[in-house]
Amino acid sequence: MGRVYNFSAGPAVLPEEVLKEAAEEMLDYKGTGMSVMEMSHRSKAYEEIIQTAEKNLRELMNIPDNYKVLFLQGGASQQFAMIPMNLMKNKVADYIITGQWAKKAYQEAQIYGKANAIASSADKTFSYIPDCSDLPISDDADYVYICENNTIYGTKFKTLPNTKGKTLVADVSSCFLSEPVDVTKYGVIYGGVQKNIGPAGVVIVIIREDLITEDTLPGTPTMLKYKIHADNASLYNTPPAYGIYICGKVFQWLKRKGGLEAMKKYNEEKAKILYDFLDESKMFQGTVRKEDRSLMNVPFVTGNEELDAKFVKEAKAAGFENLKGHRTVGGMRASIYNAMPKEGVEALVAFMKKFEAENTK
Ligand SMILES: *Cc1c(COP(=O)(O)O)cnc(C)c1O
Repeated sequence: MGRVYNFSAGPAVLPEEVLKEAAEEMLDYKGTGMSVMEMSHRSKAYEEIIQTAEKNLRELMNIPDNYKVLFLQGGASQQFAMIPMNLMKNKVADYIITGQWAKKAYQEAQIYGKANAIASSADKTFSYIPDCSDLPISDDADYVYICENNTIYGTKFKTLPNTKGKTLVADVSSCFLSEPVDVTKYGVIYGGVQKNIGPAGVVIVIIREDLITEDTLPGTPTMLKYKIHADNASLYNTPPAYGIYICGKVFQWLKRKGGLEAMKKYNEEKAKILYDFLDESKMFQGTVRKEDRSLMNVPFVTGNEELDAKFVKEAKAAGFENLKGHRTVGGMRASIYNAMPKEGVEALVAFMKKFEAENTK
């Protein structure tokens, strides 16, 4: 059985080159006689793995020296609590609700302080990004929170909100390393890596140093303090060592590909193939307002649930996996992360054209 085209939203497709390298090193990592999985996280070999990973990520994203890079656990969802526990000094934060992940973060923050929903696109099933140029930002807000790319609904902030000087915190799980970013515009950028970077179990947090303090909310567990992880270079306890090793390989792969400018170009080309077809098709339609379309997650529908189900079933039989839309949206969704080759998108569109012709009288 060969490899399929995997359109899963996450865990998702990884570069084949990376998987092959990992396979080659599985039993004996660079003459150590053991797998990275079996290695002490305090060993020389592992120190080099995690330090090289950080160095390459810094290079790829052009991360300034006054930001820390933390490799943590608990997925993106643990950050929903960790952010308010560490950042809510005034116990006030403003949230922009552009989908389920933003909403979950907002609900979690309410446990710790006053979380305000200052904008939302819930009125149209999160199919657009609200105008964030002049929002009622709270005077005493500790931060403004966004989910930059909405994995489930397929929208992306093309311009960041005007936070009126407040710290911006962004969940970038599903657009991490898909294009260049200006890190200096954010206080915190974080994401679970299983969408675009590596195996589930690692969350990367890029945080400005002045936001890392001893002054966390009372009762904050040691393991949920940014400071403990920053002071210990992500090695306070045993990190998700093997996952970080794979992330490191993906960073190297991205550098070989030409970095984030090149990725952006490639991702734009790939997405255009699919969006252009959705715009011309009489059967399939995209569900998102055009100017807010994500390059990573592309939801679409036929408008007929039975036809959607037939499409997903036949696509699977033809080697296109995980095209079923999120249970809250229905229809289909193609996630076309960095590691999805252009040929995969071209093959999908060819299949959609064939399906449309066969099912149109
Ligand atoms: C998948 C996802 C999450 C949840 O990630 P976990 O690692 O499962 O907690 C949060 N935010 C976004 C944008 C996601 O795509």
